Amino acid sequence: MTDSMASKFKVGILGATGIVGQRFIQLLESHPQFEVSALAASDRSQGKTYAEACTWRLPGEMPERVKQIVVQPPAPTLDCDFVFSSLPGEVAGNAEEEFAHAGCPVISNSSPHRMGADVPLLIPEVNPEHIALIDVQRSSRGYDRGFMVTNPNCSAIVIVMALAPLHARFGVTSCVVTTMQALSGAGYPGVASLDATDNVIPFIGGEEEKIEAETLKLLGRVGDGVVDDAKMLVSAQCNRVNVTDGHLAAIRVKLSEKASLDQVRAALASFRSAPQELKLHSAPAKPIIVRNEVDRPQPRLDRDAGNGMSVSVGRIAPDNVLDYHFVALGHNTIRGAAGAAILNAELLVAMDKLK
Ligand code: NAP
Repeated sequence: MTDSMASKFKVGILGATGIVGQRFIQLLESHPQFEVSALAASDRSQGKTYAEACTWRLPGEMPERVKQIVVQPPAPTLDCDFVFSSLPGEVAGNAEEEFAHAGCPVISNSSPHRMGADVPLLIPEVNPEHIALIDVQRSSRGYDRGFMVTNPNCSAIVIVMALAPLHARFGVTSCVVTTMQALSGAGYPGVASLDATDNVIPFIGGEEEKIEAETLKLLGRVGDGVVDDAKMLVSAQCNRVNVTDGHLAAIRVKLSEKASLDQVRAALASFRSAPQELKLHSAPAKPIIVRNEVDRPQPRLDRDAGNGMSVSVGRIAPDNVLDYHFVALGHNTIRGAAGAAILNAELLVAMDKLK
């Protein structure tokens, strides 16, 4: 064990060879608190070194220190203090429970446990108080050291980051959203090139339901160990578009209190929360960047804002049907996946839940 290993949490990555798994490895390469000690993937990869098992698909080289780690099954025998999970939904449900039951905390971006009544669905800027559900989960499921914390769907996180300051300040009563989602959101190899090229696909299985349900939980309040969902109508339509990374959402909102355009802009631009106050390593200085140009945000130009952790909002204007409309953009594999889970883990350390 190296000296740095002795002072950092040892982390395992489940689904380490996939699109999100590779982002975890990239973002954790020089992380001050977390160091990758174990990797897991499917039986296609198990028993191989990471360098043999994984075709690296991110810009730059595969980090040297993970190349010789042997990929293992996603079982709680992994040598680590907690795991980040980016397993496919159909595998994640059971595997994550096994880890939690065995005493290994799971910070997941897979979907099966997100809507569990005792599972925090967490965006540190939006609902850090939902961490309280960890104690409920431990007592209801008989976990000792283990627990499961999830981050939202990659579009829901972008939408809710933009809704949160408006909901806190003016109350959002209705939200109608249309997404334009990047190809990398479907994992690798994702949508066939002959379907994606020169095309928009107006269907992403399960996505609309996830956005509609997760938004209400995320903006809900925790009382007596239960999340009281936000009282709001949400309607989502999702499209897959020919963009590599970056999910764009066109959002219309109705507010319960009257607000001027300047007040709406100011609420978004001045949004700061727990991660900024706690100076968490992955927290962007500005969680929301308000753009004033008529044609921004755009995926290619704005997805990397705040190292991929900021949500860019533009085209804010009064709406003829609801009250206001705007466009929000976020990086789906960073703020929408690996970066979100890492920020969750940093918050859990700061709140003394990961020791
Ligand atoms: P992906 O590129 O298809 O990667 C899937 C990973 O899971 C690979 O490491 C794969 O290993 C492993 N795996 C597949 N079947 C397995 C099994 N039976 N047992 C153990 N490991 C298995 O998918 P992804 O885009 O990274 O997504 C991973 C998860 O994150 C999904 O639940 C997805 O919904 C969620 N997510 C994705 C995004 C995004 O933008 N892509 C955003 C938010 C959340 P092998 O290489 O060995 O097959």
